[in-house]
Amino acid sequence: MHVSDLRQRLRALGALPLHEERVLRRWARAQPQEGGRKRLETFLPKPLLQALPGIVAELDGLARVASQHPAADGSARLLVALADGQTVETVLLPPDRAQAVCISTQVGCAVGCVFCMTGQGGLLRQMGSAEIVAQVVLARQKLGPGRDVRKVVFMGMGEPAHNLDAALDAIQLLGTAGGIGHKQLVLSTVGDVRVFERLAALGPGEVKPALALSLHSTRPALREQLLPRAPRITPAELVAAGEVYARASGYPIQYQWTLIDGVNDGDDEVEAIAQLLAGKYALMNLIPYNAVPELPYRRPAGEHAAEMARRLHRRGVLTKLRQSAGQDVEAGCGQLRARTLPDAPQPVRWQAPARAG
Ligand code: SF4
Repeated sequence: MHVSDLRQRLRALGALPLHEERVLRRWARAQPQEGGRKRLETFLPKPLLQALPGIVAELDGLARVASQHPAADGSARLLVALADGQTVETVLLPPDRAQAVCISTQVGCAVGCVFCMTGQGGLLRQMGSAEIVAQVVLARQKLGPGRDVRKVVFMGMGEPAHNLDAALDAIQLLGTAGGIGHKQLVLSTVGDVRVFERLAALGPGEVKPALALSLHSTRPALREQLLPRAPRITPAELVAAGEVYARASGYPIQYQWTLIDGVNDGDDEVEAIAQLLAGKYALMNLIPYNAVPELPYRRPAGEHAAEMARRLHRRGVLTKLRQSAGQDVEAGCGQLRARTLPDAPQPVRWQAPARAG
């Protein structure tokens, strides 16, 4: 279901814009429709009032918790069942991270990153914008009174650029009726020119999200191997396009770098990152890889990752060393879901190309 379908349905039941906004606002904020100052019986048109319980039940069925996996760091990974029985992952990040939630935009993913469990199974289907929003509603329900979602990162399963209309529609709703700060909505992409075009075309009244770009290597050949079906855009082109949006939006680009032992954690990458991001309005997130038994990649030693972050800092790159949430509970993207599928993917054989120099 898309948010536009829901809006059409409400309008067909006699909803005026103020009725529509009220229903959507209370849904997106995980508040019961009956609450608030205005009594539903006197506020809503009768056909909508009568249909509302059915609509609420349908919205509740968009995303349900199939299983919940709390971790020692305070995060919780949710395996979320959609109405058709497909599953995606949603992660409640630790409370110290501005109560963020990481959501999925597709069931599976076509990019096929070699280190990612989601990428191994390919794309199964797109998610509707209402299904995307429903994960935030579910997270808010799980958090309960006194705690709320303040940040939403579109970094779960799927490549948002491959479901861009739905992802942007979800962002518009979350940044308005959903009450999330625009800068706290973070759209992540491997780098698709359509994302830059669409973001540049957003009008003054529209919600402009922050942007995260998955870089992973400064070497074009290595990046193509790691992200085999990402658009053929070089790291330099990606950073140039990101910089334009960063300056236009006023938000720094968040570069994502999954740090894999012996693959993209060498001195050559540190030097090349420093050159690539010199003077850029950017933040580098180094994320040590979460090893997955099915895949032949390893996490670098903690001290090595910390030293890489320090060296980048010294070279003037604002760098954060981040840990994936919930390392004790299948923290690799798609790992939790893969456990529930009958045919687990086989390990991928892959060799890093020789380093330049
Ligand atoms: S890392 Fe992200 S873009 Fe790459 S395959 Fe996994 S879900 Fe897709």
